[in-house]
Amino acid sequence: MILTTTAPVARPETQAFIDQDHQLLIDGQWVPAVNGKKFDVVNPADGKVIAQVAEGGQQDVNNAVAAARKAFESGPWPAMTASERGKMLWRLADLMEQHIEEFAEIESLDNGKPKAVAAAADVPLAIDLFRYMAGWATKIEGTTIPISVPYLDGAEFHSYTLREPVGVVGQIIPWNFPLLMAAWKLGPALAAGCTVVLKVAEETPLSALRLAHLVQEAGFPPGVVNVITGFGETAGAALSAHPDVDKVAFTGSTEVGKLIVKAAGETNLKKISLELGGKSPNIIMPDADIPAAIAGAANAIFFNHGQCCCAGSRLFVHRQHFDQVVEGVAEEAKKIKLGPGMHPDSNMGPMVSQIQQDRVCSYLDIGAKEGATAVCGGKRAESEGYFVEPTVLIDTHPNMKVIQEEIFGPVVAAVAFDDIEEVIATANDSIYGLAAAVWTKDISLGHRIAKRIKAGTVWMNCYNVFDASLPFGGYKQSGWGREMGHEAIQLYTQTKAVTLQLK
Ligand code: NAD
Repeated sequence: MILTTTAPVARPETQAFIDQDHQLLIDGQWVPAVNGKKFDVVNPADGKVIAQVAEGGQQDVNNAVAAARKAFESGPWPAMTASERGKMLWRLADLMEQHIEEFAEIESLDNGKPKAVAAAADVPLAIDLFRYMAGWATKIEGTTIPISVPYLDGAEFHSYTLREPVGVVGQIIPWNFPLLMAAWKLGPALAAGCTVVLKVAEETPLSALRLAHLVQEAGFPPGVVNVITGFGETAGAALSAHPDVDKVAFTGSTEVGKLIVKAAGETNLKKISLELGGKSPNIIMPDADIPAAIAGAANAIFFNHGQCCCAGSRLFVHRQHFDQVVEGVAEEAKKIKLGPGMHPDSNMGPMVSQIQQDRVCSYLDIGAKEGATAVCGGKRAESEGYFVEPTVLIDTHPNMKVIQEEIFGPVVAAVAFDDIEEVIATANDSIYGLAAAVWTKDISLGHRIAKRIKAGTVWMNCYNVFDASLPFGGYKQSGWGREMGHEAIQLYTQTKAVTLQLK
């Protein structure tokens, strides 16, 4: 049941930003799309249009890439010291801190998530990421290497490596954490000295545009950050196929990730990093703290309405506690108040779009036809917004679509297991390998399971713990490379070996 469809309006400064004529940021200028087209931005809580943004296409991408190339090769950016780059990133974080409420309201109206959640999680995490990456700017180092060169007897050399920015980077981001994903992408690229063309998700363009205004205010030179609003098949495809882009960093579906790899292969073999889908296993062992595990399992799937690449969508519970855990997670689900993100009492907002609502509901229908039972939820909530009831499924089989495919909604499938070998094998029975969790009081057992789970992140007795210093990314078809941590800096730099003959 929906709490209400009406909610408090945004603060005047937020509304003033939303009401602006939203253009593309290219070479430090706000410009309309070359073809003059715009598209609607919809509030998913009520389906109403809240803004229009420029619809960037091939020509706009070409212009943005040219601006990024110019800024990378000449002008103030390449001449800037690492310390200056770091200070600029820190300044950006400070500016964001002055606008936390505004960002939270934009995210809530554009994406649907509760304002309080955006203010407590998305925005502070984005700020923290920029500060963390600001620190890295001055710590990107090469090494000196003593070389031997066996075929040049008696010669002496001085060899060292330089760690250099990879160049012009195309970044394509999704709609589930619009501001945070922009930060994960921009932070390491700018710390490393790259220039960027950021293509934001068509469903949620507004917070990245607000961020782009602050990027200008922080003093980044023209062309260092260019922002394109537009669709994936046009602007996104143009960016990933562009011959003058040195690297593409993408977050989104595995299907589009494969298209990006193909586009790079057919053009200039640009470098690629991918953060893709998941079907993450959450394992509750017989000795676990069951109340904590129940709360953790609910958080694992219902946080951000299940629209998380690392959502704990497969819940494996030891048979001894299966009924208790299923009942407990279903109770948590029933307590969740669905409503517009701007309503202070809402715990869960709508799916980001009607397409996403239909996609999630089609999985619920398929699951029901294949024999799964919904202990709670199982359908869309009656509303003009795109709400889906938090759902716990049982009676599933390993081959069902609801077990194998990413639903990207508030839908968890609970499965009973009897022994450790069985649960490790089933947990790893997925094309994905993004995240996993294990709940146990036996610490050595927890570590042994963590070692055998094929995933880029394993949480123990917790879920959804993120930090700017922790690398995040996938095994198997969940991606290539890692975001955050020093590994993200590796993705935006490349090594040059320099050798001088001394004697
Ligand atoms: P998507 O992969 O289609 O879109 C993500 C981004 O890629 C958007 O900016 C989009 O414009 C762009 N894009 C789309 N087609 C492109 C193309 N041909 N070339 C270049 N860029 C392109 O994701 P979606 O349609 O928004 O959601 C579909 C499914 O993807 C979801 O149900 C979910 O399973 C998954 N998803 C995963 C994540 C994640 O964080 N890993 C985020 C969003 C969606």
